[in-house]
Amino acid sequence: MLDMMLDSDPTVFGAGEMSTICRHVWPNNEYCSCHERVQDCVLWSKIMADWQAGGVDLAEHARLQRRIEPVVSPARYLGGKSWRQYYDQTLALMRLSAQHAGQPVLLDSSKSPGRGLALARGAQADGLDMRVIHLVRDPRAVAYSMSKPMKVDTAAGVQKKLRAHPVARTALRWNFVNSGADALMRLIPEGHAIRVRYEDLVADPAATLRAIGEAVGLDLADLGNRIAAGEAIAAEHQVAGSRIRMSGPMSLKADMNWQDRMSPSAQRQVERLLGKRMRRYGYS
Ligand SMILES: [Zn+2]
Repeated sequence: MLDMMLDSDPTVFGAGEMSTICRHVWPNNEYCSCHERVQDCVLWSKIMADWQAGGVDLAEHARLQRRIEPVVSPARYLGGKSWRQYYDQTLALMRLSAQHAGQPVLLDSSKSPGRGLALARGAQADGLDMRVIHLVRDPRAVAYSMSKPMKVDTAAGVQKKLRAHPVARTALRWNFVNSGADALMRLIPEGHAIRVRYEDLVADPAATLRAIGEAVGLDLADLGNRIAAGEAIAAEHQVAGSRIRMSGPMSLKADMNWQDRMSPSAQRQVERLLGKRMRRYGYS
């Protein structure tokens, strides 16, 4: 959703969760948010053709990702040839994406902080202007959302069967992933990273986008005001991500269903497991 919002700025290409391209989106020819299969998409077909023409083997790149992008990755800390190859190829994909989209700012909304950690390491040496937005949501809402199963519906943006996950599993995963995101934030120069709470974004998109704009070096005040006034947002060529990217223009609406529908005992279970980090992010 934040990717869709920022994609509405004329200088930003909201590319979606780019880490999934080699892993499953391209090999399975899944849907782009323009409703074309990705190999037929007018934009991604060109990006991927140029990337492969530059010598990238997609299966090999996916293998590199499996070693380097986990939150804890010995291969990433050791550096060396495979990390360099991963970094150079990922950067080439990002540059081609921004170039073909005709927008100077590329937004990769991949959720794994491991991908950010892998890129931040090289960005400092390369002078790449990398900014980080750490979007966090109340873990009770995340656990409630993940407790609902979902069937495959590729055209509607659900690429694989989603099992119902136990609350404790989601809570522990939330803690692990967000600890990785915190580690990533510490690697980014002062003022170039921001933590945003989903709840603040939907309650006051104008103020939140203004703050994001300051961290990423863009003036997003006007965009924030328009979205706050109800202007619809839509994904243009998001290559993967939440199913809402397939639903066409939509205006921002808070999803706080969990507050009424999640059992008090499940809520308490999350609070018991995550109290410390929840308080740090400002959740009561
Ligand atoms: Zn497309």
